[in-house]
Amino acid sequence: MFGSELYSTGKMTTLKLYNTKSRSKEEFKPIDHNNVRMYVCGPTVYDRAHIGNARPVVVFDVLFRVLKFHFGEKAVTYVRNITDVDDKIIARALQEGRSVENITSETIEWFQSDNRFLRTLQPTHEPQATDFISEMISMIKRLVDFGNAYVVSDGQVLFSVQSFPEYGNLSNQSPKDMIAGSRIDVDQQKKNPLDFVLWKPVKNSSTGWDSPWGFGRPGWHIECSAMTTAILGDSFDIHGGGIDLVFPHHENELAQSVCASKTKSFANFWLHNGFVNIEGEKMSKSLGNYLTVDDLRNQNMSGDVVRFILLSSHYRQPLDWTNRKVLEAFKIIERWQKIAKQTFLKDKSKIPANEIMAALFDDLNTPLAIAELHQLVKNQEYEKFVSSAHFLGLLLPELKKEHTAVDTRKEQAYTKLIKKLITDREIAREQKDYKKSDSIRIKLEDAGVIIKDTSTGTTWDIKSFFDPESLEEIQ
Ligand SMILES: [Zn+2]
Repeated sequence: MFGSELYSTGKMTTLKLYNTKSRSKEEFKPIDHNNVRMYVCGPTVYDRAHIGNARPVVVFDVLFRVLKFHFGEKAVTYVRNITDVDDKIIARALQEGRSVENITSETIEWFQSDNRFLRTLQPTHEPQATDFISEMISMIKRLVDFGNAYVVSDGQVLFSVQSFPEYGNLSNQSPKDMIAGSRIDVDQQKKNPLDFVLWKPVKNSSTGWDSPWGFGRPGWHIECSAMTTAILGDSFDIHGGGIDLVFPHHENELAQSVCASKTKSFANFWLHNGFVNIEGEKMSKSLGNYLTVDDLRNQNMSGDVVRFILLSSHYRQPLDWTNRKVLEAFKIIERWQKIAKQTFLKDKSKIPANEIMAALFDDLNTPLAIAELHQLVKNQEYEKFVSSAHFLGLLLPELKKEHTAVDTRKEQAYTKLIKKLITDREIAREQKDYKKSDSIRIKLEDAGVIIKDTSTGTTWDIKSFFDPESLEEIQ
């Protein structure tokens, strides 16, 4: 195993994580050492991700790396979902006169491009909610059958919180606090004001599915419950997300899943990351201090700088994004990159330094890990330093340039070029010069352009990895 050298030192055999459920740091022991399972709530895809959205992506990426290090590369299953059905998505589609699918596929592309920029590892599974509608419907059916949910007159299905006595335990609130602390719509049909929607009827929209309760769509919480059960089973090890999800989202997910599967545990560990503020203030569009990952990229900030800042605070603390931090991070990363370029790693599988892992094993103490990186530089232990930085996803060799879809003029030029190459290929085929036509197709594919020959002609699409520069070289 990768981390076996560490065990022999006897320094660190336990991984400790703060569990929101017990409100304490606990030793992490998986249900099955050969199949450690983690689920993290992913984005609702209707807009560009801001740095508050990027934080859990990076934090749980570090945890994914730590789990793989500890339990083995293939022993960890990490699921991060994509919520592709939601009121916000539908609202934006209507507002812009576009289809829901058009909005979601574009936003998913943006999200994946941000993730590559932030150098996160690909989760094991990235399920999209709309692929699990039948699982949601059968889970809701079970909840109705078991008396944990009820159907109201207009085809709405609600979860009955009274049917689950532990409701509120995760967020450590009494039902009275929960009612006082949240914006709950007044609804005469609800038996309890905290009851929440499992299925809602759809009237003036095409985004819906047939169900035993009529045409409609699922509530947000049931989406995650259905996906965790389908992919990870009734019980699994870690459930993560931002602190804002503890209540109501995670409280509701927990209630539904425990009631529908009649298991006790659902997720054993609940991990939550803190908020991101900007210059001490809450980030909001109306304050004009809203920063998307794409904004940062357009400010010529490297993924290393963004990742470094996101890891410079402990994940459970609020993170204050300030200009000062950005300037400092620029300087540090610049210096570190020089060292990385001059350091030759003899062995590709070099393991990170013990000090770094000790920090991470203690509830992902990334600020301490960064302090240890500084120390390694100070001690001129460059190989250990670079291996450790790589482990944290920092100072890795540069990626090829990516298509960021911002400059429409450029995009038009590429479109023209792609069309020209497709025409060249068609001419070559007509002239039976298959060598040439194949080479054009292969080069287009290498550049990230997929082409499809249909009965009405050739269509094309751009893959998530699109490298316009190599396209220019084909000419
Ligand atoms: Zn969720």
